[in-house]
Amino acid sequence: MTMEALRERTGIADEAFLRSFTGGGTDADNIDASRCLRCGNALTPDDTGAHRKLVNRGATAFICVRCLAGFLGVTEPFLREKIEYFRKSGCTLFQLQSSGDL
Ligand SMILES: [Zn+2]
Repeated sequence: MTMEALRERTGIADEAFLRSFTGGGTDADNIDASRCLRCGNALTPDDTGAHRKLVNRGATAFICVRCLAGFLGVTEPFLREKIEYFRKSGCTLFQLQSSGDL
């Protein structure tokens, strides 16, 4: 899949897309890296970890797990399962589940 096709599929604006998929972009482009680029929900460590793992390791802006699932054409529960699998495999992109507050 070409980058252009990817961008169209995500429906993310050019600048945000660059940051999220290539790690490019500038600090002046006013993108909130703590929120999903598509739905605006606050991102959790799992969201950013999944994005880094499945989209681009050097990303500087992200989409949440729910949006990522839609983007990849899988269900959210499926993606959550994958995240647990990565976590259990010791992937450093995912924090160990904390029993208390974050
Ligand atoms: Zn989202």
